[in-house]
Amino acid sequence: PIFASSSFEFSDIQQGIDVFSGKEQAHFYSRYANPTVDAVAQKIADLEGFGLNKNLRGVMVSSGMAAISTLLMGILRPGDKVLTQGNLYGGTTELFNKVLRSFGIFPVYVNLNDAEAVRNAYAEHPKIKCVYFETPANPTVECIDIVALLAIAKKEFSSLVVCDNTFCSPYLQQPFAFGVDYVIHSTTKYLNGHGNATAGVIVGEVGDAMQEVWQTMKLVGTNCNPFDAWLTATGIKTLEVRMQRHCSNAAAVAAWLEKQPEISRVNHPSLPSHPSHELAKRQMRDFGGMLSFEMRGGFEAAVAAMKRIKFASFAPTLGDVDTLIMHPASMSHVNIAREMREQNGITDGLIRLSVGIENVQDIINDLAQAVGLLNGENK
Ligand code: PLP
Repeated sequence: PIFASSSFEFSDIQQGIDVFSGKEQAHFYSRYANPTVDAVAQKIADLEGFGLNKNLRGVMVSSGMAAISTLLMGILRPGDKVLTQGNLYGGTTELFNKVLRSFGIFPVYVNLNDAEAVRNAYAEHPKIKCVYFETPANPTVECIDIVALLAIAKKEFSSLVVCDNTFCSPYLQQPFAFGVDYVIHSTTKYLNGHGNATAGVIVGEVGDAMQEVWQTMKLVGTNCNPFDAWLTATGIKTLEVRMQRHCSNAAAVAAWLEKQPEISRVNHPSLPSHPSHELAKRQMRDFGGMLSFEMRGGFEAAVAAMKRIKFASFAPTLGDVDTLIMHPASMSHVNIAREMREQNGITDGLIRLSVGIENVQDIINDLAQAVGLLNGENK
C-alpha cells in the first residue's frame, strides 16, 4: 500500500520518548522513514544481494542523482578524492566538477580498464578514498572489468568501491558478487521501467557506514516520496521478463543495424565486434537493452534519420518499455567539448537507442524506413 502520511501518531508519550531515544523502532516521520519506501528499498537490496549471503540494506531517495550525491556526502570528507571514468552519465560528471569540488571533494579521471593508469592514479593521489564507476557506460556501452579493477582498488589500495548499476539492473549484473561496497541506481530507468516515477536507491552492507548514509539522506532531505516508491515496486514485479525482452530485442536490432551500409559502427556488447563482448559475457547475465550506432553521413545523416523516426520516442531517458531514441552530440553531451566527446566515442553521427520491449519487427521497420530513405531507398 501507499502510506502517504507525513507523520505517524505515537500511541502515548512513553512511545514517543522510546522512539526518539532509540529504544524502540517505529515509523513516525516520513522524511526519516516511510513504510512504503522502506519496503521497496529492501526489495531492491534483496535483489542486489540475491544468492550472495550478504546482509544488505537499501536507502531509497528522490532520484538517481540524489542517490549519488547522498552516498558521496555520506562517505567522503573535504580533501578526499574520487577515482572515476571520463564517460560517466553527464549529470554525474557535472556533479563532480561543479558541486562536489566546491565542498573540497575532487574527481580524478582515468581509463578504469587501464591497470597501470589506475595504479598510478592511486599512487599519485593518496587522498583517493573511493573509485566510482558505471558499467556498461553511456553511450558506447563499453564495460569496466570489475574483477580487474577491484583487484587493484580494494586489494592494493583498500579503497571504497561504488558502482552505478542503472544500465543493468540487478537482473543483469550483481556488483556485490565481485566485492563492491555500494551500488546505486537511478530507479527512474529499468527498475521502474515505465517512465512514470523518478527515484534512486543506495545499497550497502548493514552497519555504521550505511547508517551514516541514511542519516545524510534524512538531514539533507533527499528522501523518496511514497507514490514514486510504490510505482517502482509495481515495475519491479516484471523486471525479469522486461529485461529478457530488452536484451533479446536489443541483440536483434544490433545484428540488423550491423548489416546496414549506411551505418559504420554499432555498439552493443552482444556483437562479437564490440570491444566488451567477452567481458560482458563474464560479468553480465545478458547484454542489456542499450545500444548506439554511427551513421556514415555524420551529423546531417543522423539528424535526417531521426527526423524520419515514427515509432520510437525522442526522449532523453532510458530503460522504459518504449523504445527511446536520442542524439548524444546535440542533446545529452552538448555541453561537453568536442575533443572529450570524440575521445569517448561520441561522434556527430552517433545515435543512442534504449531498445524497448515492443514487437522487435516494429522497431526494425522504423529504423529501416528512417535510415534507408537517406539513400532514396525505402527498405
Ligand atoms: N546514473 C545513470 C547511469 C543515468 O543514466 C542517470 C540518468 O539519466 C542517472 C544516474 C541519474 O538518474 P536520475 O535522472 O534519476 O537522477
